[in-house]
Amino acid sequence: MVELGYPRPRIVMSMCLGISPVRYNGSIVYDNFVETLKRYVDVQPFCPEVAVGLGVPRNPVVLCDEGGDIRLVDSKTGIDLTERFADTVSRFIESLNFVDGFLLKSASPSCGVGDAKVYGRDRRVIRRSDGLLTLLARSVQPFLPVESERRLMNYSIRRSYLIKVFSLAFLREALCSLTSKDGIADIHRKLKYVIMLYSPSHLRILGQLVAKRKGYEVEELRESYSRLFKEAIAHTPSRGSYANVFSHIYRHVKDLMTQEERRYVNTLLMNYRLGREPLRTIVVYFRGLLHRFGNRYIAEQVFVDPFPEELDHIFVTDGG
Ligand code: SF4
Repeated sequence: MVELGYPRPRIVMSMCLGISPVRYNGSIVYDNFVETLKRYVDVQPFCPEVAVGLGVPRNPVVLCDEGGDIRLVDSKTGIDLTERFADTVSRFIESLNFVDGFLLKSASPSCGVGDAKVYGRDRRVIRRSDGLLTLLARSVQPFLPVESERRLMNYSIRRSYLIKVFSLAFLREALCSLTSKDGIADIHRKLKYVIMLYSPSHLRILGQLVAKRKGYEVEELRESYSRLFKEAIAHTPSRGSYANVFSHIYRHVKDLMTQEERRYVNTLLMNYRLGREPLRTIVVYFRGLLHRFGNRYIAEQVFVDPFPEELDHIFVTDGG
């Protein structure tokens, strides 16, 4: 069942992730979380190796270290495909409009996210790296979230990725229908805790932009707000930043709670900061708390209910 009321992020996805059997050996990979996510996002499938004209099946490609440079090489013929790959794939990435993130296949020399093998001259693995598509995506679209299906098994990484792509989709849709300068204040209010999570300094900068909105044209506001928001969420949230946001939210409801409940929240937040509780425990506790005591201001915050809850329940490891 698809939950209504959430924006639909646009995600560039590795084509072999349950879309088409395009792996070098003609196989396809199914991942439970990715299959569920597809119901809530608009997928732009892409296989860089097919895009550069390699067939299916094909020889596997590998990443080789050449004096510190990474080259993409046909593992059987030794032909260096790096330039051909970079030209085609960069053009594709530059052509992307209104995309909210990438979800790529782990461990692939083209699509891997931090876990692609890099071989040295002696044909031994000397390190791990992003795949070539991932490197290009990070360089051409540096502020867009990029993750792999394997990394999204980790609860903290998954939650942050989902907050980012759904917030970007929310902002994209909200800015599209922005007709007056005052509308930007409404958008900013709803994104406040998302921005606080990733970059309190950007919260100040974006707040100043909104406060001075009368001095800008609507189009300038759209462009500046979008750029600064993307910069903000390019950061990685720490335990301290999550605890900070939950503490702010708590201040809005604590007067409605008993003394015992308040003591419990304080202990929970302290234990979370100290690494004694996983993020998931805080998220579940606050979901219940806000169900009981939440007010309109809190309920409107994108941070409080950023994406369909079903995506929180597919198997994950805790990971902080
Ligand atoms: S990992 Fe990337 S390059 Fe390899 S088959 Fe999948 S989409 Fe294509």
